[in-house]
Amino acid sequence: MSPTPAIASVARIAYVTSDVIVNSQPPRQNGSPFAEAFAALDGSGSAPDLFHVPLGGDAGSTILHNKRSSNLVSFTALASSQVLARLVPHISELSSLPIVFHLAVQDDLSDVLILRSTAPYFLLSSTAQQAHDNALLASRLARRERKAVVHAFHVGEQGEVVGDVGEDKILSFLLEERRVTPGAHAPSNGHAAGHANGHPNVHGTHEKLEASLPDDPASVDLFRSYEAAAWSTVALTRRPLRPAVIHGASHPETLVFTLGRAGFDFDVDHVAFVDVSLLTPFPPSRLLALIPSSVTRIIVLEQVPRWTMKFTPLYLDIVSAVQQVDVQHRPIVQSGILGVKGTVKSTDVAKLLQQATASPASTRLQLGSSATEALAAVSSHVPKHESSYTKILSHLFDQRLEIVNSPSLVASQGELATSPEFALGRIRGELEQRAQLVNAIQELLDEGSISSELHSLLSKWVVAKDDPAKSRQLGDEIVQTLESVNVPHPAADQILALKAHLPSVSRWIIGSDAWSYDLGASGLHHTIASGLNINVLIIDTVPYSSRNTADPHRRKQDVGLYAMNHGDVFVASVAVYSSYSQVLQAIVEADRFNGPSVVLAYLPYVSEDSAALEILKETKLAVDAGYWPLYRWDPSKERQGKEPFVLDSDAVKNDLQAFLDRQNHLSQLVRSKPQLATELVSSLGENVKEARRKRAQKAYDDLLTAIDAPPLLVLYASDSGRAEKVAKRLAARGKARGLSTNVATLDSTTVDALAQEEGYVVFVTSVAGQGEPPQNGRMFFKTANAIAARGETPLSKLRFSVFAMGDSHYWPRPEDAHYYNKPGKDLNTRLEQLGGERIAALGLGDDQDADGPETGYKIWEPLIWKALGVDSIAVTEAEPEPITNEHIKVASNYLRGTIVEGLEDTTTGALSASDTQLTKFHGIYQQDDRDIRDEREAQGVEPAFQFMIRVRMPGGVCLPNQWLQMDQIADEHGNGTFKITTRQTFQFHGVIKRHLKPSIKDINRALLDTLAACGDVNRNVLCSAIPSLSKLHAQVYQFAKDVSARLLPRTTAYHEIWLDKKMVAGDALKDVEPLYGEFYLPRKFKVAVSVPPTNDVDVFANDVGFIAIVDSKGDLAGFNVTAGGGMGVTHGNKKTYPRIGDVLGFCNVEQGCEVAEKIMLVQRDNGNRADRKNARLKYTIDRMGLDKFKSEVEKLLGYPLQPARPYTFHRNVDDFGWHTGEDGKHHFTLFIENGRIQDEPGKDFKAGLREIAKVHKGTFRLTANQHIIVSDIPTAELPIIKDLLAQYKLDNLNHSALRLSSSACVAFPTCGLAMAESERYLPLLVDKVEKICEENGLRNDSIVMRMTGCPNGCARPYVAEVAFVGKAPGQYLMLLGGGFYGQRMNKIYRESVSEPEILAILKPMIKRYALERLEGEHFGDFVIRAGYIAPTESGKTWYDRLGGEGEYREAA
Ligand code: SF4
Repeated sequence: MSPTPAIASVARIAYVTSDVIVNSQPPRQNGSPFAEAFAALDGSGSAPDLFHVPLGGDAGSTILHNKRSSNLVSFTALASSQVLARLVPHISELSSLPIVFHLAVQDDLSDVLILRSTAPYFLLSSTAQQAHDNALLASRLARRERKAVVHAFHVGEQGEVVGDVGEDKILSFLLEERRVTPGAHAPSNGHAAGHANGHPNVHGTHEKLEASLPDDPASVDLFRSYEAAAWSTVALTRRPLRPAVIHGASHPETLVFTLGRAGFDFDVDHVAFVDVSLLTPFPPSRLLALIPSSVTRIIVLEQVPRWTMKFTPLYLDIVSAVQQVDVQHRPIVQSGILGVKGTVKSTDVAKLLQQATASPASTRLQLGSSATEALAAVSSHVPKHESSYTKILSHLFDQRLEIVNSPSLVASQGELATSPEFALGRIRGELEQRAQLVNAIQELLDEGSISSELHSLLSKWVVAKDDPAKSRQLGDEIVQTLESVNVPHPAADQILALKAHLPSVSRWIIGSDAWSYDLGASGLHHTIASGLNINVLIIDTVPYSSRNTADPHRRKQDVGLYAMNHGDVFVASVAVYSSYSQVLQAIVEADRFNGPSVVLAYLPYVSEDSAALEILKETKLAVDAGYWPLYRWDPSKERQGKEPFVLDSDAVKNDLQAFLDRQNHLSQLVRSKPQLATELVSSLGENVKEARRKRAQKAYDDLLTAIDAPPLLVLYASDSGRAEKVAKRLAARGKARGLSTNVATLDSTTVDALAQEEGYVVFVTSVAGQGEPPQNGRMFFKTANAIAARGETPLSKLRFSVFAMGDSHYWPRPEDAHYYNKPGKDLNTRLEQLGGERIAALGLGDDQDADGPETGYKIWEPLIWKALGVDSIAVTEAEPEPITNEHIKVASNYLRGTIVEGLEDTTTGALSASDTQLTKFHGIYQQDDRDIRDEREAQGVEPAFQFMIRVRMPGGVCLPNQWLQMDQIADEHGNGTFKITTRQTFQFHGVIKRHLKPSIKDINRALLDTLAACGDVNRNVLCSAIPSLSKLHAQVYQFAKDVSARLLPRTTAYHEIWLDKKMVAGDALKDVEPLYGEFYLPRKFKVAVSVPPTNDVDVFANDVGFIAIVDSKGDLAGFNVTAGGGMGVTHGNKKTYPRIGDVLGFCNVEQGCEVAEKIMLVQRDNGNRADRKNARLKYTIDRMGLDKFKSEVEKLLGYPLQPARPYTFHRNVDDFGWHTGEDGKHHFTLFIENGRIQDEPGKDFKAGLREIAKVHKGTFRLTANQHIIVSDIPTAELPIIKDLLAQYKLDNLNHSALRLSSSACVAFPTCGLAMAESERYLPLLVDKVEKICEENGLRNDSIVMRMTGCPNGCARPYVAEVAFVGKAPGQYLMLLGGGFYGQRMNKIYRESVSEPEILAILKPMIKRYALERLEGEHFGDFVIRAGYIAPTESGKTWYDRLGGEGEYREAA
């Protein structure tokens, strides 16, 4: 295919704007039009790095591997489901990178829309000119916003004319500053406003529909970035570029939205058309702004002829937007498919309108040719060389041959028809029908009245049903007989209906080696594991001589070894140009084998024109070198006492072990489990088969116990995991009562699927945000609302009940009270509207009840058992105890669990739930990309799992070479950035499973580790970063390291799992944990060392604190010891509270480590292990009483602590700028907002610090406020460091004191516990609050402001002067009154505030502070004196005298 003008111009833009291009190469016979266009450009300007990835290759990995520090990567491809499905697993990583996906489509957007929900921007071009302009826009947008942009464009026709822009102009366009878009302002309600790139649309003066809810702020921000980029593009091209163009009648009654290439260039009375070219982000208010108020009907036409889901994407967006409109003014919205062929005329539109008015709103309309016609147009091509194998199949099996995924099915079934999943589904269906046929024949045989001739035929067929020839011949005779004689029995009719299954057939799935790249995703794994009688022929075409150049970034997995490991699969490896007879033999044996068979067939060719001699030569090389061994492996021979493995290649017969050791996925498994090698060659897979037999038995037993009871499906929607726990416990209790129960998330099902549900369905849901459903139920809610709005009742068979969980005090204002348990209440109503029958009244679980939600649950649960008729069943066995962290720890064999096995499992990106608890002790948290969690769930793929790795680095000190290695690890294994945390260490995000081990190895190579950076152990020990007093710092830093070493777990599991040190698991050696024991601590444990007058580590927020006390010579004399600080709280659970540590007494330096240890041991033995929410040391001390606790510690010490000595703190913020230490060395504390080390436009901080690390001879110190000190700089080095700091703008401290004193935790998108934004949002909030400060003359006055995404409090919000703790997206708890140097906790001032409320509260408060503050009075003290909030005296009284409003207000 030669490039069309659209492809040529997009390829040119990609070539000019990108540093790296990855091009997906279609099958050889088709050629790539992009590759041709790039070849034509070669030599013009500075060429990007160009990579071509074969169709089955992993383009996502190639992009990630080669992105380096590119300003822009472009991916080019002819869109197909195969190419796009392979991008999906990487899309979470890719979406936050500057990448443009230029996808050329041919009149069908069904495939490209897979990416729509995961990419931040999705543009669509219908003409070649639009493709050119949008390619420019996309490149600028991706490059500036550093986010992925999908640009889908129509391939177009050869004659189209495109106006190009010169290369020099494009380059300056890319680098130009962001433009302010005319009209891009935000009205106070937060709605997006203004017209894209200043072109008021022609209908702009008419009244538009109004939305009742504000838009999602994130989507508004994205939209504004789009507008800014569009405006710049317009300035360059002088052509309009709008997200949607409306044309046609000026007061339309009908509005036709079009997503696709329609070409409505004519007028139809009362009809206007909207051509959409921006699909994401399109805030609802913007969509509504396109709809004139005269419109009563909207038709949404989308060019998705092969769309298989019930609702199309744009239709759903428009329905959701329109739902926000007052019901009297709400237009009807209808969905339609835009066909693919022919020119649409005005008469076609008139017919469409007739069809729309005559049909119910739910009917899907059609304009243009239908899906079937569209599919017929899809051509499939079988490469000619492959007929070498297919001819053998035809020759051997003739009429019996059924190629289940034959390309001929594409016309009727779509492209998926050639996939293994499709073929597997088809075979399952056929086998089920054959089983029905056998039953029908048996039934007829049992019927005494049939003729003896027919009886004899049927009996013979039953005996010979698997015989290829006899089954066909007898089948024909049976059909003849039944058709000639009337047999009045339903079974006879059924036999005739199923006559196609009378002959025994040989079923084959034929595929390419592309499937081997990802066994799980390709569906091959499911086929192999199905146990069904299926034959798979996989043709590998990679020539031996170019084997190392084919997709070098992703190895093919050895399907043969993989299949052999299953134990019940026939496997053969053949090569027709090496041994024709071996091919015949293997294929015949595969056919005979009763179970799955895999035949790997070698056929090395480069193109259709490759000569047979070439193929012969390559085959010989591959077979002789052992690259392609010829073998057959038949597990059924075992039963006959024969050797199952036959090696047919002479050249490697003596080298079998080498064959097994080949570098591939499974040979690694062989190495780690030597017994597997034996299994592979002799009594293969015995253990595997045994395990299977046990599983089958269990499934059968389960079936028997559940056979008489009604099935129960429990669906939950849960963000924090509480509703999930309740749902799972309910399911377990149901099981104990003999019910067949299943439990799943609400979004894992659909309204359609529920309509088929025969049993009982129980829903459990919590609340998110402003009464919204939790993330994993939102799609269901959205769909149910859309269906209910159309008045349909598809759930007439459903019997249901709902249990809702929430907090009746969460929304203190009376006008917000209806948000309490809103999703549950809405669901309860909606299910009834959809036709469901309620079996028990809505259950309401309220956090405020005596026993929390359990109070309501205990009333509701018995109603369910009653409704299901199992209330009288006595549950004899105790219900299984839930597995707690305590069980996991003790069963883990000193933190091993099954982490090693989990790392080897390539079928999932996650580790098992219990292992994720254990990896925390190794410094690793499993997370997933929260930004795309629901989209992935909707797509039916697992969350985008990734891991956070935290380094252990006591005192936060590292050397320049260690910095460089951290920088490199972030690039090679993480998301390209890293974070300085509030515990003075490095944290990497976005590490995927296969990078975990290499990351940990690299960290250890840098002489750092991650052991005990998280988990129920002592975490990274903090230490004041005070380089100006370097002598003292050296002493306390050494002390911090000593404490860390003393409290470090002793398990060898860390070295064994991550560093491949000798295994001590099993019988060899036994680990001991002298301090921790097998249960470790009840909860995390944190230690900090501070040096007055700076409390930069917030010593009182830690379980144990050491406050350095100096002697008269300025040397370290010892420490005042504090205990019982801790920040974590659970919203709505008053048993949890933050607490600051109490001073226990004084100890000298030598006693310090022992004191830390003994405090930890008292906590180990007295901490609450039954309730993790009440397990921290702070609760233990409050439960025991401080005096009793102290005496227990002293008992273990064997001596009393001395009385505490005087000390003074002045501040807990960092001392930015230059300082010189006592030893004459220099230190510069620089500001890194919220600790994120990354390169941003104009702020290349990561690059700058890398350059500094390359020349610096001293150290880097990380502060607990997430900033960096370039430390210990000798005077001679000063000029170069200063130059570099200036060059990279790292010496810029010209920020407001508010910004310098602020800090935020990570939260979205990586932290699994985040309820609201934090790191990404606080800087924006500070922008606004610092304006207020500046207006009041407070630019240089510190106010300690902190934010966290959840109440866990990682950024220590409860000791800030003003703090915000996330409750739901955009909603925060607001706290006031913390002490300036961390000596006093703040208190809840408002239960739930959003940005406008925050600003409305702070504006007068800050003004008053500026006017009325006393000399030196800090903000936290002022708000208490001014009566805004009461002081917090202790953790236990934290909830007393809260601020607030409405009926729950308590006087301050
Ligand atoms: S405070 Fe909560 S949201 Fe923020 S990083 Fe910690 S656990 Fe995550």
